[in-house]
Amino acid sequence: MTTNLKGKTAVVTGSTSGIGLAYARAFASAGANIVLNGFGAPADIEKERTAIESDYKVKAVHSPADMSKPAEIAGMIALGETSFGSVDILVNNAGIQFVSPVEDFPPEKWERIIAINLSSAFYGIRAAVPGMKKRGWGRIINTASAHSLVASPFKSAYVSAKHGIAGLTKTVALELATFKVTCNCISPGYVWTPLVEKQIPDTMKARNMTKEQVINDVLLDAQPTKQFVTVEQVAALALFLCGDDAAQITGTNLSIDGGWTAE
Ligand code: NAD
Repeated sequence: MTTNLKGKTAVVTGSTSGIGLAYARAFASAGANIVLNGFGAPADIEKERTAIESDYKVKAVHSPADMSKPAEIAGMIALGETSFGSVDILVNNAGIQFVSPVEDFPPEKWERIIAINLSSAFYGIRAAVPGMKKRGWGRIINTASAHSLVASPFKSAYVSAKHGIAGLTKTVALELATFKVTCNCISPGYVWTPLVEKQIPDTMKARNMTKEQVINDVLLDAQPTKQFVTVEQVAALALFLCGDDAAQITGTNLSIDGGWTAE
């Protein structure tokens, strides 16, 4: 069955790039109005926003909310509700990464990664749930990571945040189970996006490797398929989770990682 999201509104954090942009396009293709969020050049964001509107005949707005700021996160949910009447789908996806040996890991980087990759989901859920409960329908999807299940050296904050979001997902799923609101996380393996590309120089330094070695021996070697996951593959899974066929899927952590976490 195809997913029909006509009349629904999806807020996707961190959707000016990578996986988030693919989620936004997938939900719009099913008829949802979209609240984009994230950073970037204003002209690029406006180009994406108008492209979504014209490609899929839906409405899209951009919220510049900073996911490290709780009041701005609440403002983003309010923007969805005032622009389109409801927030039915919330995807907590914004994320950043930093690679460093734990003893050198700057405390301010730790705080920022926990804020953007974990606490933002708590604040978003907190703001969106009253409306979802009232309407008796909702879908909350958190982008976790293979790092919600397994660790890698030099990523202490990221791995901790991703393990945390898996716990938040299960707790919220149990609280909302009788309200027809599901909460799941999707855990991709490596997807070639700016987030992955930007961590390569620090990984080269931490592991004393060349760029090619990092790509082949760290990134691709983690995945038995020896291939990157694509943003479209991750978005297709999210779209499925929003459909009626997924109504009984809640509290899970769905891996899409080329077999990484099966090993
Ligand atoms: P990306 O760098 O392409 O996108 C990150 C998005 O988050 C951008 O839109 C950026 O503007 C936004 N963002 C960053 N800081 C923000 C802030 N303070 N407030 C609002 N928005 C902010 O990265 P991506 O790979 O698409 O990552 C998306 C999510 O997927 C992240 O949570 C990441 O941890 C997760 N993930 C990525 C991979 C991968 O291999 N790329 C694997 C597993 C999980």
